[in-house]
Amino acid sequence: MSFDTLGLSAELLRAISEQGYTEPSPVQRKAIPIILQGKDVLAGAQTGTGKTAGFTLPLLQRLSENPLNNGRRPVRALVLTPTRELAAQVGASVQTYGRHLPLQSAVVFGGVKINPQIAKLRRGVDILVATPGRLLDHASQRTVDLSQVEILVLDEADRMLDMGFIHDIRKVMAMLPGKDARQTLLFSATFSNEIKQLANGLLNRPELIEVARRNTTAEKIEQRVHPVDKHRKRELLSHMIGAHDWRQVLVFTRTKHGANRLAQQLEKDGLSAAAIHGNKSQGARTRALAGFKSGNVRVLVATDIAARGLDIDQLPHVVNFELPNVPEDYVHRIGRTGRAGNEGEAVSLVCVDEHKLLRDIERLLKRELPKEVLEGYEPDPSIKAEPIQNGRNGKGRSQPRNQGGGRNRSRSAAKRSGNVRRESGGNSAYGNR
Ligand code: AMP
Repeated sequence: MSFDTLGLSAELLRAISEQGYTEPSPVQRKAIPIILQGKDVLAGAQTGTGKTAGFTLPLLQRLSENPLNNGRRPVRALVLTPTRELAAQVGASVQTYGRHLPLQSAVVFGGVKINPQIAKLRRGVDILVATPGRLLDHASQRTVDLSQVEILVLDEADRMLDMGFIHDIRKVMAMLPGKDARQTLLFSATFSNEIKQLANGLLNRPELIEVARRNTTAEKIEQRVHPVDKHRKRELLSHMIGAHDWRQVLVFTRTKHGANRLAQQLEKDGLSAAAIHGNKSQGARTRALAGFKSGNVRVLVATDIAARGLDIDQLPHVVNFELPNVPEDYVHRIGRTGRAGNEGEAVSLVCVDEHKLLRDIERLLKRELPKEVLEGYEPDPSIKAEPIQNGRNGKGRSQPRNQGGGRNRSRSAAKRSGNVRRESGGNSAYGNR
């Protein structure tokens, strides 16, 4: 099936073919015609499924089909994302797919100066991609008007809730036209009761779209567990990278501190490495990501929240240096590899403390992961399991959702919603990533 049959305009089809896409992905096949009809959508789709083009293409088409001819340029489409990186990536997609259309777009997120964003908004923007905290900052300074929004997209809504953005989302909703007067598209990888509740309040008789979850379609990702003692993980990681000559490896740790420390240790081992997490400045995060994409940085060490939404094409290797506290995060992590039909490899280094986390993951995947003890790195059977620091040794989702606060929010935004941001050292599963 080709893109031609979906009802997209010539300008969009041209941009798609310039991207080299020949066939729509399953979520695109389902979502594009429905969104073009103006219906609300509740879509279960994870990063890596092509969901961004799935909502961006029809959104661009709808706006360009009904231009405003009164000379004004109010925000007509708003895309909310949980993280800065995802906002930047969605913004780049809007630019790419909309390059042959006369529409203006902007991206606003925290951690960078607000004035250039204000200047851009003042010049007129049709499509605004934003993280909730910075959007509210603009709203409170009256530098953005959301009263004319025709299309609202909530991207990775589950992650926005996990990050404690629910109050901010509700505040943003209060500034938009009501749900009968706008089109709303909600994308989420998972459907908790909270997501269903949010969807009930925001969507108007939505069409449901479900595409296969990554954990059932991940056959192209080879997954392996290497049992190893905690204090030998770093040595084993350096060994594997060197021995297999891995050139681009995304490594996950549970905490920001752990990410920094590991990146430093890998540098000492002679491997170019950078850490990416919520405490880094936006500039440092962008630099680390750019270095990784260009091949100058061989190992990118990331926490779950920082890595969420990273779009790195054809990433061959993902390593779980530490297993995540929340089993669903394992699926998100390995979704970084084997993307858009490419083969990938996901390796987990698992110490005795993490056996329960591994069992939780295997229960979610409904299968056991192959285990391989590597010669010279056999676990010492006399080492007993210890509780995991910086996260409960159990289900992170039982933690209060708002403890971690939003990564992107300014302090004022955190205060506005009554959440206290815990910068570090917290033992919430979400508090220190
Ligand atoms: P997403 O799930 O939106 O993050 O997209 C995942 C990746 O798939 C991105 O790198 C896109 O550029 C790519 N992609 C999206 N749609 C297609 C398509 N129809 N064919 C090939 N690649 C695609």
